[in-house]
Amino acid sequence: MPAGLLGIEDLSREEIEAILTRAKDFQPEQRHTFKKMDTLKGKMVVLLFFEASTRTRTSFEIAAKRLGADSVSITAAGSSISKGESLVDTLNTLAAMRPNAIVMRHASSGAPHFLARHLDIPIINAGDGAHEHPTQALLDARTILDRKETLEGLRVAIIGDIDHSRVARSNIHLLSRFGVDIVLCGPPPLAPPELAKIAPGVTIEYDMRKAIRDADVIMMLRVQLERQHETNFPRAEYFSFYGLELNHLELAKPEVFVMHPGPINRGREISSEVADSQRSMILNQVENGVAVRMAVLERILSA
Ligand code: ASP
Repeated sequence: MPAGLLGIEDLSREEIEAILTRAKDFQPEQRHTFKKMDTLKGKMVVLLFFEASTRTRTSFEIAAKRLGADSVSITAAGSSISKGESLVDTLNTLAAMRPNAIVMRHASSGAPHFLARHLDIPIINAGDGAHEHPTQALLDARTILDRKETLEGLRVAIIGDIDHSRVARSNIHLLSRFGVDIVLCGPPPLAPPELAKIAPGVTIEYDMRKAIRDADVIMMLRVQLERQHETNFPRAEYFSFYGLELNHLELAKPEVFVMHPGPINRGREISSEVADSQRSMILNQVENGVAVRMAVLERILSA
């Protein structure tokens, strides 16, 4: 593993497996409070978020604290970034405080890679534009593997705004390493045919019912309006073609489950009946977010 974690594309299958196996040790037992560890005692993790986040930032913070590290969270709105400070100046200022790792989210693809080239500190990508969101794909894989013995041979349908989704890209890189049959589905402007070239095992399907047929897992994605110049998004029309409803689940394998990285938009890409059903793994994903981020922080910081 490189010094930090910039993308799933850089990881081997063995490295992914090692993180997923270790994350299992950090899954909380039912109704038990988690005992704080001192694995990363004396280490400092800076969380630098230039884009909104609820789950990712909080779970990195909880993960760092459970491992005994200190963490400081900086968001664009509350920092000198909003006063016009350049990225390089912000980064140099932070580096001068000597953190042991920086977890970064940014609207530009490649921003964490830029940071990694300039600083001698491990950088963890918490989402860069439409490019990658590696810890999301790792927690998604952990969630699938909590229910399936192996990823090999599964059929996973990823539905929604694929083109603007870093979650989709990281998942495609990860799942394709394990021989998953990946079906991407969305309206043609949001699921262009080139996406099938990202990795082996990927096909594109524009008819949602066909995409879902025989799926083991359905991953729904939010329409990333912040990455488009669409002022009048046709919400009702979108839902009628690409919104997930309970009756769709009958087309999939009987044991199918539904995932979504959040935040969900009820009535836009997913109905409340599905989101709140027994089939929904959305909160399991959130829970695994902490375990997977503990495994990642431990691997990077105790190396
Ligand atoms: N939370 C995920 C991300 O940051 C998915 C989303 O925002 O739709 O990419």
